[in-house]
Amino acid sequence: MNQSDITAGQIRQGAPFLWVNPERQTDFDPDLPLNIQHIRDADNRLRRFGPLLTQLFPELSDAGGLIESQLHPVPTLQAEVYPNLSGQLLIKGDHALPVAGSIKARGGIYEVLCHSEALALQHGILHDTNDDYLKLTSEPAKVLFSQYEVAVSSTGNLGLSIGIISAALGFKATVHMSVEAKEWKKTRLRNRGVKVIEHKDDYSAAVTAGRAESDANPNSYFVDDENSQQLFTGYAVAALRLQQQLSDADIKVDAEHPLFVYLPCGVGGAPGGIAYGLRLILGQHVHCFFAEPVEAPCVLVGMQAERSAEIESVYDFGLKVATEADGLAVSKASPWVCSLMRTLLDGVFTVDDDRLFEYLYQLQQHESISIEPSAAAGFTGPDILTATEDGKAYLLANQLSDKLDNSTHLLWTTGGLFVPEEEMFKFSAKGKQLLNL
Ligand SMILES: *Cc1c(COP(=O)(O)O)cnc(C)c1O
Repeated sequence: MNQSDITAGQIRQGAPFLWVNPERQTDFDPDLPLNIQHIRDADNRLRRFGPLLTQLFPELSDAGGLIESQLHPVPTLQAEVYPNLSGQLLIKGDHALPVAGSIKARGGIYEVLCHSEALALQHGILHDTNDDYLKLTSEPAKVLFSQYEVAVSSTGNLGLSIGIISAALGFKATVHMSVEAKEWKKTRLRNRGVKVIEHKDDYSAAVTAGRAESDANPNSYFVDDENSQQLFTGYAVAALRLQQQLSDADIKVDAEHPLFVYLPCGVGGAPGGIAYGLRLILGQHVHCFFAEPVEAPCVLVGMQAERSAEIESVYDFGLKVATEADGLAVSKASPWVCSLMRTLLDGVFTVDDDRLFEYLYQLQQHESISIEPSAAAGFTGPDILTATEDGKAYLLANQLSDKLDNSTHLLWTTGGLFVPEEEMFKFSAKGKQLLNL
């Protein structure tokens, strides 16, 4: 059996495992489409919108309109749950990103801002990009935006992000929700005047339906999670922000101080954009791993496909996308993102649903941080790398085994801020029970 047959067999089994990307390169491929200037431009655009965002969302006033999350040390979690881990464990707290309550605040809001800026420039509401962006809340701007629709398909969180910002700017907003979407996410959107269309099918089907409906309306703009460079670039800005936070915390990333980043992954855009930015900005000593449910490892499947056009879905492996991690419940990855990840990603690991609830509970107990199940997908990563045979073989092959004392392990928590209290209680009760506590 060759390596890809072995991997296919492991995917089929639906049990957790680590896949190490044989095509990762240490040097950043200069032919990749986005460079540092694209990411800086995106950051500058977000900063131009700061005053406007503060006006629309007063919770952003302390941050000057920047939507950003904290870098948290988690010493108690590390001591209690990862007692044998050397190096430092940190959390990048996108579970608490304001406005959208998930990692989707990065890409989703960015893309709608790009669209509104382009329309405003085209229609003379803004003269140029140095103009006063508060003009976008003026009456003429509202009249303009109300003639246009922004549409998206989602398993929940992307819909929240796009729906909330689009409605706040005065667009008509339509969200196509796949079957996984939680009821409370739909209600939250409807309360803001967003049109929610419920599909009985999975995410890929909701994308196809949403895209077709939007394409038929010349005044509708479809945020395309599978193909959007703007969305991806918005996510990548996280790397600039993290670089600053690491430097503020005196955390080095270099040959002697590797950084391991564990990112929950659905269609691939959010973790892909972040991994791309991190490899571009921090270089080869950042090691990015995606975490996917055993029942929905779509990027893992996508990375196996020899050519991106032939990417298969997880259904071809007998899997059913049966997961409580609604943010990761995707059968078919973005082929475009998979192709961008080919030389950048260190690997992908899969995780059992039960573990999500266990970690969710432990994080709450030890650090008083509440996240949704999807956001816990990366939490098995440090143990997979340092305490399994496959992980140790990877570390050895990459000359990392002797660098662990100086390493940093970053768990990227991707959602949770708006989960209703009674839902959160059920999640943590389930985790507690699974741990026999
Ligand atoms: C969407 C989402 C992800 C993954 O992002 P993709 O772009 O779909 O890969 C991870 N966690 C949560 C909570 C999400 O909502």
